[in-house]
Amino acid sequence: MDDFYEKAASFLEQQIELYGDELVMEVAAHNPDAREGSDRDADEWRQSTSLIDLEKQISACRKCALYNTRNKFVFGSGNPNADIVLVGEAPGADEDRLGQPFVGRAGELLTKMLAAIDLQRSSVYICNILKCRPPQNRDPAPDEIVACKPYLMKQLQLIRPKIIVCLGRIAAQVLLETTDSLSRLRGQIHRFNESELHILYHPAALLRNPSLKRDAWEDLKRIQRSLLELKVK
Ligand code: SF4
Repeated sequence: MDDFYEKAASFLEQQIELYGDELVMEVAAHNPDAREGSDRDADEWRQSTSLIDLEKQISACRKCALYNTRNKFVFGSGNPNADIVLVGEAPGADEDRLGQPFVGRAGELLTKMLAAIDLQRSSVYICNILKCRPPQNRDPAPDEIVACKPYLMKQLQLIRPKIIVCLGRIAAQVLLETTDSLSRLRGQIHRFNESELHILYHPAALLRNPSLKRDAWEDLKRIQRSLLELKVK
């Protein structure tokens, strides 16, 4: 038996010398059980039954390159049983520093916008398409959206809101799976599965361009009418 182990060890050493780690890759490729096992482990978060559990499962995510540059993973915050969920595109510098969505000036404006239609921030749930900040606040890249969107889908599945409000063009395009411009998309009520989907300008855009505030007020009033019709508290 010793002879067998010696021969096996010498064979493996020879293979590693010749092919490096490729041998290991090849074993996995020819062993569907091994691959399925690793996929199963990687996808355990899909079985989460609460937001707390989901956050715990994915907070160390490395599915895209943004894990390299993030300071804090920004899962989302608010009422886990909310009837209304607001979705932005990605954390900014303040969010990345504090690990919370929509803080800083844009967050303050969002809180005021909600208050204008009698919504407390603590009664809604707020999150983003991406959970990690893109460097220099650039737009999310397509591969980052593909990697991170399933987490948002799971959040929405767990919360089951009556109304989803997309904050800005990117959130709207990603959830509606369209490349239509924001000006074509806003001003109407869309559907997303069982939820109504509304679109608001991103608060950061309103800070940069106050002339958009008149349209934003119209959008807020439309949301308020839906809140009353759907008896959202
Ligand atoms: S952005 Fe999303 S997919 Fe990328 S590392 Fe962060 S949590 Fe993972």
